[in-house]
Amino acid sequence: QESFLVESEKLSMAGQLAAGIAHEIRNPLTAIKGFMKLFQNGMSKMEYVAIITSEVVRMEGIINELLLLAKPQISRFQATNLGELLAGVYTLLESQANLNNVDIKLQFSEPELLIYCDESQIKQVFINLIKNAIEATEGGGEIRIVVEQVGNHIMTSIADYGCGIPQELLDQVGRPFFTTKEQGTGLGLMISNKIISSHGGTISISSKMGEGTTFQVTLPGGYRNGA
Ligand code: ADP
Ligand code: MG
Repeated sequence: QESFLVESEKLSMAGQLAAGIAHEIRNPLTAIKGFMKLFQNGMSKMEYVAIITSEVVRMEGIINELLLLAKPQISRFQATNLGELLAGVYTLLESQANLNNVDIKLQFSEPELLIYCDESQIKQVFINLIKNAIEATEGGGEIRIVVEQVGNHIMTSIADYGCGIPQELLDQVGRPFFTTKEQGTGLGLMISNKIISSHGGTISISSKMGEGTTFQVTLPGGYRNGA
């Protein structure tokens, strides 16, 4: 029963991601088609080749991230650079952020913060949290992600300046199927909580109506060497 919930959430997340990703891949394809037309008409320029190459590399990045997520989910714990993990998550969500005029700022206290984790599960958590933050930021704005070491833990805070969560709903957030969204599943935070607690970490929320919301994810970890 539990695994059914996880499966359905994965599908719906994939569906939601698909719209943003399809858009993000269609744009460079349209551009590339245009440049190909120019080549056919004899107007070739080296600049075009550079643009085409960078667009292809970007599409490749998005597709690689999707393939990683689609891999079968056997728990595999290993030392993971949280910065690289978040950069991968960013690649997946960049298109949705752009579509919503949301600017994501990433900040690290140290260059190499390591956590011991199942990478694709932790990715799923950050996709959930950042997607929620984007969805809360109606009309555009900023999301700040700060990663820092606190003792023998690494704390990642994701702050948005969106709609906020009413005080009386705060303890319902994260319950299965609790959603305030028309197309929501109400499963994202429940699954995120499960994943984080299975990693020995915690998630906490602070929120103010009309001012925004901050989610804090704390996981055991440290610097390279210190980890
Ligand atoms: P879903 O996103 O499918 O609704 P989640 O479990 O991810 O399910 O979130 C549950 C609910 O928590 C959301 O519907 C929303 O009401 C609230 N929520 C979560 N994150 C935020 C946020 N950053 N800002 C405002 N509300 C949020
Ligand atoms: Mg969600």
